[in-house]
Amino acid sequence: MLNVMNLNIHYDAIVIGAGPAGLTAGIYLSRAKLKTLIINEGIVGGQMVLTHEIANYPGVESISGYQLANIMKKQARTFGCDIRSNVIIKEINLHGEVKSLSLVDGSVYTSNSIILTPGGRSRNLGVPGEDSFKGKGISYCATCDGDFFTGKEIMVVGGGNSALEEAVSLTKYASKVTIVHQFGHFQAFEHAIEEAKNHPKINFIMESSIVAFHGSENLESVDIKHLKTGEIINLKTDGTFVFIGYIPNTEFLIGKVELNQWGEIIVKSDMSTGLEGVYAAGDSVAKRYRQVTTAVGDGTVAALAASNYLHESKANHKKLKAA
Ligand SMILES: Cc1cc2nc3c(=O)[nH]c(=O)nc-3n(C[C@H](O)[C@H](O)[C@H](O)COP(=O)(O)OP(=O)(O)OC[C@H]3O[C@@H](n4cnc5c(N)ncnc54)[C@H](O)[C@@H]3O)c2cc1C
Repeated sequence: MLNVMNLNIHYDAIVIGAGPAGLTAGIYLSRAKLKTLIINEGIVGGQMVLTHEIANYPGVESISGYQLANIMKKQARTFGCDIRSNVIIKEINLHGEVKSLSLVDGSVYTSNSIILTPGGRSRNLGVPGEDSFKGKGISYCATCDGDFFTGKEIMVVGGGNSALEEAVSLTKYASKVTIVHQFGHFQAFEHAIEEAKNHPKINFIMESSIVAFHGSENLESVDIKHLKTGEIINLKTDGTFVFIGYIPNTEFLIGKVELNQWGEIIVKSDMSTGLEGVYAAGDSVAKRYRQVTTAVGDGTVAALAASNYLHESKANHKKLKAA
């Protein structure tokens, strides 16, 4: 484990982000005997550590996100991968044959390849109680957590396609789904609106917003404010799913790599970006579905493509030297 400040070390590959995509890339790269460093801003594991139970990772019936993250971290380290977590990148240069990045602690690293896996975050409501009940009744992922609310009465916040589609999908589990939306109309495709409106388990609270979450150990009720009248009511709920948008953690990459209008990294099928030797994987890339399995799959592809790139560029250098 690296914990020395002010280092200046060259790696074959540097991975930015230690969520499932980055840890998988680290496992594959270091297992291929490539000198690899993972740089991570938060604690190792990314969004996985926010979920108390992962029940849809094939081969593992049920595991906490924290445990799964630690197994992946151990695997990467076993193959020789260096990991630096809780650090902040100050400057990054993705151009040219040798890429570089410096951290705010003064460390400088260079590499021949970079894999970007900074993940993302769900847009929060930003109201009292939200942070306390994340994973304890408040969720941002129906595929991940829907099953935990089987037979329960839940709320869905949002009025776009994902809110309406996920509300319908949650009716497989929940006995009642109440959609809370701030406007009097939805910003979704007509078929999604019709499907939700016609569903017998779904009802609506319009022109309203959740302004506080309450409970002791787990979420028990919400305060809902009618945005026109200002009236606040308290309603009991077993769970609340928030679908008000997703934000990729790519602010530090603006102007450095091609992003789409939502800030997602644009990649080809081998996870390459438009820059030589630079790949991206996981929730930060432009794609529809975001899961641990998809992040792990992307991380695998990016690492294999980066390994191939490094192998070919080493072979080219040898040829040039011999000529
Ligand atoms: C509450 C919750 C529950 C979930 N439950 C499930 C589930 O049950 N099953 C499932 O399959 N999926 C679940 N998901 C989704 C899953 O966690 C994500 O799809 C997956 O973690 C994405 O992996 P990733 O590696 O792309 O990014 P992330 O997990 O987001 O990891 C990115 C990492 O990069 C770091 N980082 C960000 N910016 C920088 C930077 N500038 N420099 C350095 N490091 C940086 C972050 O600190 C983070 O550690 C859940 C998500 C949430 C929020």
